[in-house]
Amino acid sequence: MIDLAALPAMDVAGRAARLRATFGDAECDALLVTKLVNIRYLTGFSGSAALLLVRPEDLVFVTDGRYRDQSAEQLAAAGVDARIEIGFTVEAQRDILAAAGKGFARMGLEAHNVTWAQQRDMAAAWFPDVDLVATEHLVDDLRVVKDEGEIARIGAAAAIATDALQRLRHRLLDQPTEAEFGLELDTEMRRLGASGPSFETIVASGANGAKPHHRPGPRAIVDGDLVVLDYGALVDGYCSDMTRTVVVGEPSATQARMLEVVTAAQQAGVDAVRAGVSCVAVDRACRSVIEAAEWGDAFVHGTGHGVGLEIHESPRVTFSSADTLAAGYVVTVEPGVYLPDHGGVRIEDTVVVTADGCYSLTHAPKDPAWPSQPTT
Ligand code: ZN
Ligand code: ZN
Repeated sequence: MIDLAALPAMDVAGRAARLRATFGDAECDALLVTKLVNIRYLTGFSGSAALLLVRPEDLVFVTDGRYRDQSAEQLAAAGVDARIEIGFTVEAQRDILAAAGKGFARMGLEAHNVTWAQQRDMAAAWFPDVDLVATEHLVDDLRVVKDEGEIARIGAAAAIATDALQRLRHRLLDQPTEAEFGLELDTEMRRLGASGPSFETIVASGANGAKPHHRPGPRAIVDGDLVVLDYGALVDGYCSDMTRTVVVGEPSATQARMLEVVTAAQQAGVDAVRAGVSCVAVDRACRSVIEAAEWGDAFVHGTGHGVGLEIHESPRVTFSSADTLAAGYVVTVEPGVYLPDHGGVRIEDTVVVTADGCYSLTHAPKDPAWPSQPTT
């Protein structure tokens, strides 16, 4: 089991000040945060219902009766000083926020999180005298750079994921179905202290491996299969993400070549990661290796993505990304080649961007014969 208290603390309470510093450019005086994961980032609250009004001088946190005690405990533990209000109905919550929002000329809403119906309701009934402003990614953009505590949590999740596969890898030789092996991985990660998988575990064997996001099914894993294992653990709200492709038995010549090319492409991508480098350049580094092997058309997705409180977050590491890497970003590098007649190969690490390169948080061996290697 992992001891959260032993991990470096996160400066949760300092985040609201950094958010307020963006209000000028966003042309708002206060921000109503509705995206739950952003509320968690700003307050430490992990429940399933809350609203957070970030005002220039204070925070107004609104939740319902189920979370009365939990919110008080979690905000206090994070050192967040907020006015906690309990609204037992949506109408009560509306009244609390309507009063708290009075007097502001312009209130920001999170444009990518508020539905059309909510916006209409807020404009008509919640804040009729306030100019509502559509803001874009104000909190999400803060989340891109991870602090030491966040990196430690992603790293702890990644260590659990690696450990789980280390313990279970021999099982792949016993012809489990994809679904059985996926369930065993998920269970083992929980046993090791994860609060769950960070997304739906992918176990894709044989021809199923040619579908990058195959859902584990009843197919038994047999000799001659490439098996794509893409999975992660969740620790204190933070996700890990790693893909390994293993081979059961001996690979065919084409499978061996696929493994070689994707391994080289993935290494080229990792080698390209550094603060100041565009995400497009990282994608290009991977893609050019695969194109040189004449499998460019079989690399059917982007190279990577940010990882944090969400499994997919900013930046996008793709051929069309407008993002540039900076120190403290945590991104994946995960090229693949997918050939229906041979299966799929994807290799993915999650790396932390630094001024002069990066370091990986995912440490499972990349030897495709790992399942049959003796335990050391
Ligand atoms: Zn993944
Ligand atoms: Zn990924």
